Amino acid sequence: MAFVSLGAKAQYWQQKTDYVMDIDMDVKTHQYQGTQKITYQNNSPESLETVYYHLYNNAFQAGSAMDLKIQNALDPNRKVITNVGTKEKPEWVSKISLLTPEEEGYLKIKSLKQDGVTVSFIEEGTVLEVKLNQPIASGASTVLEMEFEGQIPLQVRRSGRDNKEGVALSMTQWYPKLAAYDDEGWHANPYLGAEFYADWGDYEVNITIDKKYTVGGSGYLQNPNEVGRGYETSKKELDKKVRKGKLTWRFKAPNVHDFSWAADKKYEHIRHQVPNGPVVHLLFKKDLENDKKESWKKLPTVMNQLFDFYKERMGAYPYKQYTVVQGGDGGMEYAMCTLITGDRSYRSLVGVVAHELAHTWFQFLLASNETKHPWLDEGFTTYISTLIENQLFDNKEQPFDGSYKSYKLLAKSGKEQPMTTHGDAFDISTGYGISSYSKGSLFLDQLAYIVGDEVLQTVLKSYFKAFAFKHPKPEDFIRIAEKDSGMELDWYLNFWTQTTKTIDYEVFPLLATKITINQRGVIPMPLDVRVTYTDGTHQDFYIPLDIMRGQKKSLSRCGSSKRLEMETANV
Ligand SMILES: [Zn+2]
Repeated sequence: MAFVSLGAKAQYWQQKTDYVMDIDMDVKTHQYQGTQKITYQNNSPESLETVYYHLYNNAFQAGSAMDLKIQNALDPNRKVITNVGTKEKPEWVSKISLLTPEEEGYLKIKSLKQDGVTVSFIEEGTVLEVKLNQPIASGASTVLEMEFEGQIPLQVRRSGRDNKEGVALSMTQWYPKLAAYDDEGWHANPYLGAEFYADWGDYEVNITIDKKYTVGGSGYLQNPNEVGRGYETSKKELDKKVRKGKLTWRFKAPNVHDFSWAADKKYEHIRHQVPNGPVVHLLFKKDLENDKKESWKKLPTVMNQLFDFYKERMGAYPYKQYTVVQGGDGGMEYAMCTLITGDRSYRSLVGVVAHELAHTWFQFLLASNETKHPWLDEGFTTYISTLIENQLFDNKEQPFDGSYKSYKLLAKSGKEQPMTTHGDAFDISTGYGISSYSKGSLFLDQLAYIVGDEVLQTVLKSYFKAFAFKHPKPEDFIRIAEKDSGMELDWYLNFWTQTTKTIDYEVFPLLATKITINQRGVIPMPLDVRVTYTDGTHQDFYIPLDIMRGQKKSLSRCGSSKRLEMETANV
């Protein structure tokens, strides 16, 4: 569709999408009735004639685009396939292809109005296209009111009912959600399994559900006394809904880009105040084995350490609450909360919480387009969570050794695609994983090598300060790095993320007094070279890189008597 690209230099603006939703859940049929009122503020410089919604649940239907993608994948994620053959003769098929009408997911739109007038729409798989009756002028807002019904799919990926640990409802990407619109236009990507992108707004969500269920997730609970469950201590009042066997949980989540929740009859709840930080709610299944429950009970101390570390490295968490709830299919980050599987060793539990909480800064508060730049979210998250995990457990000199190993394997395999590849467009899912997580974290580790650790720490804080709630792009990050380091770094962003070129230098001791370093890989780097002599002494050399227009802090400045000559050559 047509849109005007304003380029990176334009003033930042974001659309605002305020939601009010009322949901009535039937836990027996796994169907829910919903009303939704979105007040959409068009802060863009353009007038909008169309809006798009995501209908993520529709991906979980046999024959959907996601199903076909899984069926055609060379190495599908293990979570989305199942063996219908035998152990000896395995026959792997897409789990989605096996869903019956009662098990599949859907979102059906019953009615839609723009400013009180019925408006027509087209449903195409996971995307709803709405031709507006009245264009939304730049600076104006419109009210979109919808009635919808949903069915929660049997859990295949992230969202769904009855996950493998018996959590009843994992409700993520569960409502008709307006697609993001930014200076590049609409981002109404069909849901194929990769990551998400959305605009911020204030959410008010009222969930009416069987009173035996405990609900946790995004948002501040507005009626703790009414629903009880240990959220507050005072006595609850039973209303008419309780007599009908249902209760309404009322949540408000200000300035979020998503609202996710989980519900189960057997949640144990721990409420913990992080000193100088938010209240943390931990919800985990009462029927977990004792040692697993003990691990969850040790999480409050860890949460203190994690919030401290991320605050120091990035900036303060600006909300009063964060929730870790058992649900989903592994670990996934959402606004003000995370859903993780809970049947884990202590080390694995801390690892997944450290990772998902670190996402808060990148996926939730900075909120880059993670379908388009998955590494900017997953890679940076991996970087910062690896640092704290190393501090808590391993104390390795090189915390990223695992990432280097994976990256080198991929680079040598010949199957690597540039990190700029769209999250859904990688040829192999291993390639997506290693590029986004491992190589994405190495982007920062190698940058630390160039600009120095201290400068990189400043860069991350400046980046967060300048771009929180602004959907930054890779160029925004590198500009901050250039400003804070005084170096030119566009070459680094380009080589590392837009190509699959490698850093590869080869040392040739040609003469007794002269060493030649051949550049075999295309990516140039400033070089620190240490020569160790047979008598145990060493000499450090620094070979600058002129395109940086600046110098890295180097070992060779320590001063050592020069016995050797060093030269570089391109091969
Ligand atoms: Zn992640």
